[in-house]
Amino acid sequence: MGVSIGKPRVTITDTENREKSKETFRDYLNREGLRVTNQRLAIFDAAFRHPEHFTAEELLDQARAIDHSVSRATVYRTLPILTESGLVKEIDIGRDYKFYLASKGDKTEQAQVLCLDCDHIFEIDAPFMEWYAGSVSQKVGLEPEAIRLQVHSRCTRLRRNHQCEHYSARQG
Ligand SMILES: [Zn+2]
Repeated sequence: MGVSIGKPRVTITDTENREKSKETFRDYLNREGLRVTNQRLAIFDAAFRHPEHFTAEELLDQARAIDHSVSRATVYRTLPILTESGLVKEIDIGRDYKFYLASKGDKTEQAQVLCLDCDHIFEIDAPFMEWYAGSVSQKVGLEPEAIRLQVHSRCTRLRRNHQCEHYSARQG
């Protein structure tokens, strides 16, 4: 079961961000002594063309559409490289598989609001998180290393109107 795919939001900034991120990915591979292969680049492209959160299996399908020689093993080996390089964010919502999201280059902390009914993840700018994390850590003499806020929610649109764009997207 995947997360619904929202309307594509392709802008000049997205394309610029993608090109910059691709350079970062190449540099990262070189630094780690890993080869820059067509398969790895296809996986990168598939991740960065995806407007929303995706699973490893969804990434596999889309990477194969770009380069049919991409194997499942290559996708599962490349995903950790993408997350370790900071280009892709890994999101664990307590299921037996993870979700991923290509970094849009934003520096603001994001909170995740999950719709349990529609199986949709919203990324919301939450600049207060950094302040809050710093403040509570300081109280116990620590410094924050990573910050995570996840809100698990129910869909009011679905309850009131018996329909929601994210619900129908998942069904279709
Ligand atoms: Zn909904």
